[in-house]
Amino acid sequence: MKSFFYLLTCSFGLLSVLLTGCGGKAPAVDPQKMQLALKDTLYNLPVEPEIGAERLQSLLQKYPNIAGWEERKKCLREGLLTAMELNPLPPKSPLKPCYTGHNSFEHYTVDNVAFECVPGLWVIGNLYKPAGEHVNCPAVLQPHGHGRQEPLKDCPRFAEKTQYMAASLAKMGVAVFCYDMFGYGESAYHAGVGVHNTSLAVSVQTWSSLRAVDFLLSLKEVDPARIGITGRSGGGTQTFLAAALDERIAVSAPVDQVSCFFPGGCICESGRPIHSQCGMLSNNAEIAALAAPRPQLIVSEGQDWCRTVPEVEYPFLKTIYGYYGKAGLVENAHFSDERHLNTYNKRSAVLRFFAKHWNLNLQLITNEEGEFDEADFTFLPTEQLAVFPDKQLPEGALHTMEDIYVALCVSR
Ligand SMILES: [Zn+2]
Repeated sequence: MKSFFYLLTCSFGLLSVLLTGCGGKAPAVDPQKMQLALKDTLYNLPVEPEIGAERLQSLLQKYPNIAGWEERKKCLREGLLTAMELNPLPPKSPLKPCYTGHNSFEHYTVDNVAFECVPGLWVIGNLYKPAGEHVNCPAVLQPHGHGRQEPLKDCPRFAEKTQYMAASLAKMGVAVFCYDMFGYGESAYHAGVGVHNTSLAVSVQTWSSLRAVDFLLSLKEVDPARIGITGRSGGGTQTFLAAALDERIAVSAPVDQVSCFFPGGCICESGRPIHSQCGMLSNNAEIAALAAPRPQLIVSEGQDWCRTVPEVEYPFLKTIYGYYGKAGLVENAHFSDERHLNTYNKRSAVLRFFAKHWNLNLQLITNEEGEFDEADFTFLPTEQLAVFPDKQLPEGALHTMEDIYVALCVSR
């Protein structure tokens, strides 16, 4: 422990020199907070489904009307940001988008692009767009879930199902940005794959999503009133966190993760005390409710921690949406025979939900039998989707966890 603090002191000394080198004032780093952010602590563990349901019921009794809920919502949002050390939010620095590759097809295009969410920290991904000139396009963020971190070609951003979903939306006129989780894919060029298993990952991923909304809104063809987000499993966590915190997200579809008894098994999901703010234990269903009354689809299945959604989490969400007179805007697509997998039925439910709310033409992606034609898109190999094929981030990129922590959670 002694040597750890010695190392921290050394880093702080170096950082101070770097940050005061141009006459600026060094940010005050709290060594204990920094130590916690770089650890692999889980702050909330799963409980029995019955306990989760009871907690959800108790929460509802605390806010039996819209006034009570609004008060809780305000506190929860503030608490989420505080737990992630994003309160106050970092300044919105220039995104400096960096386009390094372009792929063009008959109905859509794919750009390889990255932007800085704070100076030196890159959000790296692929931007799918409908082919040709467009105005007022809807736009969707597509964060991915967990999978293999190495080799690069096996990272979820490059997976066939990820590409299919993005290409399908693009064919219907939607711009879609798919981006790496922290420490996954090309994001690992910052400080390796191990950084994903630190508490800082929750903060990085959430801030990345909020800045990704800024990135979408910076595109001249995007309709600011039609921003959406969808992701599955760990991507589902990123989905409901971003929708909870960013009112610019008009439609959301978290898949396989809105559970009242399972907080998420990864450090990037519950590696910060986001479920224990405002005096009463929270859970993912309550966080998802922060998107109310904006349209939201909860996709769930019968063989994992989402098995109680139709009887427990969904009625809870309908009650909250009902406070706004908008109970019909939250929906549940439940597949009782399915497991925690990315399936045709779940992908189809998400596509139908966005199509319904944004009047998209589903015929553009269905075959003569009326089924989604998942074979009708061009799978791109990793080499064609990589933003930094030489594995080098632009000059000025941050390469240590300590520097990333300071840039995101301390510099203001
Ligand atoms: Zn994770």
